[in-house]
Amino acid sequence: MNLIDGKKIASQILDDLSKKIARFPRKIGLAVLMVGDNPGSHAYVRMKKKACAQLGIDSLTEQLDADTSPETVLQKIEVLNHTPAIDGILVQLPLPDHYNPQQITRAIDPNKDVDGFHPMNVGKLLLGEEGGFIPCTPHGIQLLLEKSQIEIAGKHVVIVGRSNIVGKPLAALLVQKRRGCNATVTIVHSQSEHLSDITRTADILIAAIGQPHFITNKLVKPGAVVVDVGINRVQDESGNVKLVGDVDFSSVAPIASWITPVPGGVGPMTIALLMQNTYESALRRG
Ligand code: NDP
Repeated sequence: MNLIDGKKIASQILDDLSKKIARFPRKIGLAVLMVGDNPGSHAYVRMKKKACAQLGIDSLTEQLDADTSPETVLQKIEVLNHTPAIDGILVQLPLPDHYNPQQITRAIDPNKDVDGFHPMNVGKLLLGEEGGFIPCTPHGIQLLLEKSQIEIAGKHVVIVGRSNIVGKPLAALLVQKRRGCNATVTIVHSQSEHLSDITRTADILIAAIGQPHFITNKLVKPGAVVVDVGINRVQDESGNVKLVGDVDFSSVAPIASWITPVPGGVGPMTIALLMQNTYESALRRG
């Protein structure tokens, strides 16, 4: 079994970006809006701010109460859309229940939508058009595989999970007719029949479910590559919160050819690709 070192690959991407950003003629700015008090979101926003500080990107973070109205958030997005110093805008998900996330995502200028969730950018990804933004986690997974010299072309990739932020855009990316993609892709989800029969046919199995240790060795073909996107907060025996993936690492690692750890696998890549999209936005905007 070989470990896919997301931390190392992400840090190489960040090192490369930091040199480019140092040469960029102006300050680059990323705005992050967070609504409510989700503990996971706090941690993600902290990591994003830290990465910005490391690269010399100005980060503007606004933390809003859970009862903030969607109209207020829409107004703030509108201001940021027209603020020249801001190259990237993201609204940390999940949003409180009284929000329609699609409405918020659509309000962001697609040219500043560094998360890649705006329908314009989703459409460009599906069509294989240049000039959009690829969502950070799917792009991070594709690069993890490519930079670990794992062949994707022609392989059967099974993705467990069909969310708009991971499963669906990942399928759209890996099936593209371009270098580093060209996979045969199957998505399974909570309504799929014969799920384990399908996952056992995967050359590359990607778990984006949000269920701790869902993927055991019984769902994996010996020799498969296993990518664990899950980040689940669970309490250990002493009551401390720890992060675990969707893959039962101890049962799957012995039969996998390659596997990502949690933490230290997909997570750091998501942050690195967010920084890359922000730099890309600044380059396009000049
Ligand atoms: P969602 O809850 O939006 O989607 C989960 C998907 O898993 C759904 O499609 C759901 O099916 C499917 N699913 C749930 N239970 C089962 C089951 N028993 N059998 C088969 N399929 C099932 O989650 P996200 O995609 O947003 O996130 C998935 C995981 O990845 C989470 O742990 C999240 O924290 C993590 N994550 C990690 C990131 C990183 O950077 N590493 C970034 C983003 C997310 P259905 O559609 O039918 O309900």
